[in-house]
Amino acid sequence: MGVSVLSVIYILSAITFILGLKLMSNPVTARKGNQLAGAGMFAAVIGTIFLFRDSNGELLRNHIWIFSGIAIGSIVGVLAAKKVKMTAMPEMVSLFNGLGGASASLIALIEFLHLKNSGFPADQSGPGILAIIFSGIILGNITFSGSVIAWGKLSGKVKDFIFKGQHIVNLILLAAGILLAALIISNVRSGTASVLFWLVFFISLLYGVLFVMPIGGADMPVVISLLNSLSGLSAATGGFLYNNKAVYTAGILVGAAGTILTVLMCKAMNRSLMNVLIGAFGGGGSQAGTKEQGTYKEISLNDAAVLLSYANKVMVVPGYGLAVAQAQHACHDLEKLLESKGVEVKYAIHPVAGRMPGHMNVLLAEADVSYDKLLEMEPANEEFPSTDVVLVLGANDVVNPAAKNDPSSPIYGMPILDVGAAKHCIVVKRSMKPGYAGIENDLFFQPKTSMLFGDAKKVLQELSNEIKNI
Ligand code: NDP
Repeated sequence: MGVSVLSVIYILSAITFILGLKLMSNPVTARKGNQLAGAGMFAAVIGTIFLFRDSNGELLRNHIWIFSGIAIGSIVGVLAAKKVKMTAMPEMVSLFNGLGGASASLIALIEFLHLKNSGFPADQSGPGILAIIFSGIILGNITFSGSVIAWGKLSGKVKDFIFKGQHIVNLILLAAGILLAALIISNVRSGTASVLFWLVFFISLLYGVLFVMPIGGADMPVVISLLNSLSGLSAATGGFLYNNKAVYTAGILVGAAGTILTVLMCKAMNRSLMNVLIGAFGGGGSQAGTKEQGTYKEISLNDAAVLLSYANKVMVVPGYGLAVAQAQHACHDLEKLLESKGVEVKYAIHPVAGRMPGHMNVLLAEADVSYDKLLEMEPANEEFPSTDVVLVLGANDVVNPAAKNDPSSPIYGMPILDVGAAKHCIVVKRSMKPGYAGIENDLFFQPKTSMLFGDAKKVLQELSNEIKNI
């Protein structure tokens, strides 16, 4: 009876994961999707704790350990999620990925030690089970150590590190780990199996470190998305190990969604995944300040306020600087003020604006900006020629025309928001410094562009005050 109820719970929770993912694809329904999938996972966890029976037909007994773990994890998770700043979200996601990988690896490690202690019984130590265990160890360890390094790099605690031939060393390490695992699987009862097992364990940890170390700053979100997909796949190995449908469905869904997201992000930057993993975009900044760019012109707050107030259509282009300045509420206030004066205001969202996928959507949603005002890159580009004023708020690389015009630029080929097609462009940032890719931006020197220097939040608040006085 218990087992069949548990199977139904697993199937229902798998359905909630799929529906949840579907709902998460739209900002209007994303929160509901998250709650639905969370409820499904909650049901699967509670069902497993009280209804799961092991191979001897016994129910789980160590409830104190289980609930203590759940309580500690929940308290730490809730506090961390509440405390984290929007700009530190990628670091947080990275740590969560790492913990997922570590859990999968620990599960596989414990199962291997169980088998070893009982002398690798033939019926429980077949090549299928061992292959799942080693997949969990290798994927889990790469995810764990890679995510810890990614977290360190994003928070500025770990610097880029690359040595000559590192990619070859990485490939050799990965191949060695897989070959050794295959060797153990082929003869698990040999005397060297345990020693080789630990070798595979440490090689995969080392590979995770060396694989993330050389990747340039602006490419880190792609790597995090890739690690996210690996964390899903490593969790799926745990599901296969215990034949737990909810865990392997969730793991495969995370793995597939993470892979799709990684591919989409590479596409938005017009680069292949290989190029991201081997190239150095974002690390260099080789061109910064080396090219004579001409002169730029500044605009006063008052002139900018007049230009915006008398426009028919204004397009706001948010970027990473908006998140740093936490200017989303000030931006929404300016939007409402302009609309009260009869100006049409929309937002143009580049798929990689900010430091993580959907960064700008989340930020603007937090300030209650209506979703139907957010235009994706293609429709936005169609609307720029009929736009009077573009207000670029802390965005840089995603509006850099070098991506279209300069074949020598590291971002050449990346689709950009074509803000130069509008009648006027006002760029709000603090200085003439380049964006994250470290390259100069020709847009700032174009005749239709005016610079309005300052912190995005402060400038927006002052602009609103000026507009109120017009
Ligand atoms: P950028 O990093 O190119 O530029 C941000 C700009 O914001 C800077 O030039 C900075 O100029 C300005 N800024 C910083 N703080 C403030 C502040 N307080 N007030 C006003 N301005 C500020 O950001 P974009 O969003 O244009 O581009 C994102 C970059 O990240 C791209 O290179 C993209 O490829 C990369 N990336 C993003 C991914 C994603 O998933 N979102 C994935 C992979 C890569 P100043 O210092 O002068 O103020």
